[in-house]
Amino acid sequence: AQERYASIRDKPAVTACGERVGLFMNAGLMADLPSLAGSGAEGVGLFRTELQFLIRNKMPQREELAQTYARVLDAAGGKPVVFRTLDIGSDKVLPYMKPTDEPNPALGWRAIRVGLDKPGVLRMQLQALIRAANGRPMTIMFPFIAQFEEYRAARAEVDKAIAREERLGHLLPETLKVGAMLETPSMAFAPQKFFDEVDFVSIGGNDLKQFFFAADRENERVRRRYDTLNTSFLSLIERIVERCQISGTPLSFCGEDAGRPIEAVCFAAIGIRSLSMRPASIGPVKSLLMRADLPALRRIIADARHRGEQSVRPAIMDWLRQAD
Ligand code: PEP
Ligand code: MG
Repeated sequence: AQERYASIRDKPAVTACGERVGLFMNAGLMADLPSLAGSGAEGVGLFRTELQFLIRNKMPQREELAQTYARVLDAAGGKPVVFRTLDIGSDKVLPYMKPTDEPNPALGWRAIRVGLDKPGVLRMQLQALIRAANGRPMTIMFPFIAQFEEYRAARAEVDKAIAREERLGHLLPETLKVGAMLETPSMAFAPQKFFDEVDFVSIGGNDLKQFFFAADRENERVRRRYDTLNTSFLSLIERIVERCQISGTPLSFCGEDAGRPIEAVCFAAIGIRSLSMRPASIGPVKSLLMRADLPALRRIIADARHRGEQSVRPAIMDWLRQAD
C-alpha cells in the first residue's frame, strides 16, 4: 500500500487551498523507526514509552533506557521525536508491578497519576531521556494530564532532573520542550494560563473521545457507537484549537482518528495543523488533504451543524463523491 503513495511520499502535505499540515507517525519500539523514511513522516509525534516496559519481565534500568532512547534519536536522524512518559495502568499493566484491583481502571490510578504519586520511575525515565539527548534537542510529553496542577508538578520533575544532570556534569539537551496530552475534557476548560505555560499540547483523541461520550474504548458494544465527527465532539476540539491559538501554543492530534482521512481533513478544517498516526496512514491522509479545500469544508461543517445534524459525516461524504 505504501507504494501507491510513493509519488507523494516526499512531498509536504499542502491542502488545495494552500494550508500546510504536519504529518507525523506514532511509534513505540525501535522496530518502528525504519517507517520514518518509508512513510515520509516528518518525525515521531508520539513515542509510547510504555512498550519498552511491557516487553520486559523486570523493571528496566536507567542506563539501559537511556541507550534505547539514544538509539531512537539516532534512528530519527534529526527529525523530531516526542517521547511520552510512561502511560501504565488501565489497559497497560506491567507484569512486575503489584496489580491494583480497581473497579474502573480507565478512570483509575494510571499514567501521570502514578508518575506523580510514586515518582521513582518517572524520575528515572526523565534522567534517561535527558541523558539520551546528550546535547541534542529533547521533547517530553506527559500523558493524561487532567488538571493544570498536574502539569506543573510533572514539569517541576523535569526541572529537578535537569538540575541534577547539570550537577553531575552531563550535557544538557540543546532545547527542551515539555508538553501535555489533552485526553480529558476537563483540560479544554483549564485556565488559559495552562495554555500559556505548556510548550505544546497533543490531543489524545482515543481517550478524549472515550471520556467525552462516557463510552469505553475497549468495549466492543459501545466503542463505535459515537462518531468522531459528531458535532459536539468537533465543538470540543474547536474549543481546544481556539484556546491554543490565543496563546500561540503548538497543537497536534495523535489519537487513531488522526490516521483516518475523512477525520483528518475535518480536523484540518477546524484548525489542527499537525497530526500523528500509524505510518501506513500517512499516504492516504496526505492524499486526501492535498485535495481538500478547507474553507469549503468549514462551510459544510457549519451547514450540517446549522441543520442540527448529529454528525457531519454524511455531508462530508457527499462532498467527497462530488470531488471525485
Ligand atoms: C490517545 O489516548 O488518543 C492516545 C494517543 O494515547 P493511547 O492510545 O496510548 O492511550
Ligand atoms: Mg491515551
